[in-house]
Amino acid sequence: MIVLHQRAEIESYMLDLRKFSSSIGFVPTMGALHAGHMSLVSKSLEQNDYTVVSIFVNPTQFNNSNDLETYPRTLTADLAMLEAAGCDVVFVPEVHEIYPEGTDVQESYDFGNLEMVMEGVHRPGHFKGVANVVHRLFKMVMPTRSYFGLKDYQQLAIIKALVAQYSLPIEIIPCEIVREPDGLAMSSRNVRLLPEQRKHAVFISQALFNAKSQKKSVEETKKSVINAIKSVPLLLLEYFEIVDGTTLQPIRQWSESKNPVGCIAVHVGTVRLIDVIMF
Ligand code: AMP
Repeated sequence: MIVLHQRAEIESYMLDLRKFSSSIGFVPTMGALHAGHMSLVSKSLEQNDYTVVSIFVNPTQFNNSNDLETYPRTLTADLAMLEAAGCDVVFVPEVHEIYPEGTDVQESYDFGNLEMVMEGVHRPGHFKGVANVVHRLFKMVMPTRSYFGLKDYQQLAIIKALVAQYSLPIEIIPCEIVREPDGLAMSSRNVRLLPEQRKHAVFISQALFNAKSQKKSVEETKKSVINAIKSVPLLLLEYFEIVDGTTLQPIRQWSESKNPVGCIAVHVGTVRLIDVIMF
């Protein structure tokens, strides 16, 4: 496994790699790797000749400076996990390699209604930052396929839109959510939960699973999830929406969508967690 830090290095390495391989898989991450990330890496290893992983805590997608400062960073352990998995290339850039003109100089994108809901509303500028970093990384790595988790459902929709808008020859592969044994969606931020918070955080996924198994009307389902979260101490609901999985617009009847999806964001102390359920 080779670890590269500079933009010029990854670009020239990828140029050579493309001569010898028919497919390159790419997994962009912010590090603090867990089994969720590693499931994306495994899928890429299965489906491609070479697998490239990036580890970069992208400052432009954080709308909360405390979240950026406290974001877990575990590079040594991350590299060991990637090496053991059989990853070929890891790109670990400094901020100026991605933003040579400074983080204030960013491309503007228009994702229309996709960014007018949920994370787009509650985290202003988040998807601009995500689109900037992923587009820049795509241009450097130029992969055949790139892997994204369904946990960040709206992000996945934005990336698909980015690829379509710029006609990028990259296949976007959605990957299932990996959960802890009790159901909590794995997240790099979970390590920041205090033991008491961790105990309560399990009720996020539980509320979603219950809603799915009962499958009442859309309105009742929404109410039951909202009430379930409100009844748990230490959990503060930011939003729960039931949306069409393609347009991401809220639905009022199940018949309005072929692939309805429930998306939730909850604060547990200073930690913000998201989760998703496909109905
Ligand atoms: P992050 O490091 O949080 O930016 O995540 C990098 C990629 O891993 C994104 O595509 C995430 O959606 C994906 N990911 C994070 N957590 C999980 C999980 N629990 N299951 C599946 N994919 C995940």
